[in-house]
Amino acid sequence: MREILLATGNAGKAREMKEILSGVGDEICRRVRWRHLQEFTGWPEAIEDGRTFLENAQSKALYYARLSGLWTIADDSGLEVDALGGEPGVRSARYAGEPKSDQANNALLVERLAGVPDDQRTARFRCAVALADGRQVLASAEGTVEGRIIDHPRGANGFGYDPHFLVVSAGMTAAEMPPEQKHAVSHRGQALRKLAVQLAALLSERAVY
Ligand code: IMP
Repeated sequence: MREILLATGNAGKAREMKEILSGVGDEICRRVRWRHLQEFTGWPEAIEDGRTFLENAQSKALYYARLSGLWTIADDSGLEVDALGGEPGVRSARYAGEPKSDQANNALLVERLAGVPDDQRTARFRCAVALADGRQVLASAEGTVEGRIIDHPRGANGFGYDPHFLVVSAGMTAAEMPPEQKHAVSHRGQALRKLAVQLAALLSERAVY
């Protein structure tokens, strides 16, 4: 079995990562034992000061792979709103400041978009994922999903900005979608499915018994 650390402290994201990666193929289910950041204590949080989601995902994966000695998957993701010049972007988790709060972030988002008409509320979630060992990045991938920001939250699934993110083609917010439906369209689903293909190939090449 290959032990792989899912390097996110966000329980919502860890659950989605595992569901998506395990759903992709038998190879991954059979050969991987997932490990979680919560199992380890005393590690300072990785610094996320990259300019892009991809830079942050890669540096986080390397950082936790060095600390754990395990293959490590990290992601970085966020929301880009066109009417706000791409904000909150890489600052999505802490848009309204410390401590991190989904509720405060959503309130600020709605406030900043006050008076912006529906057709100008276009936005997208972006996600970058990376797999690293202690020496190098072994694989990485990106995904996006387009949508529109609505003032009034809808739905109780998901996390973060989901209740305000309307996937127009589905007529539902990301928080109204059951998990499998969200994974099928989401930025994280797309990025992780691309990564899973690369991971399955690496697992075959470098099998540990
Ligand atoms: P990260 O932990 O730096 O990747 O922070 C990403 C932040 O972007 C999260 O805390 C959420 O606020 C937001 N975000 C990323 N992906 C999603 C999603 O799938 N749904 C809702 N919000 C998301």
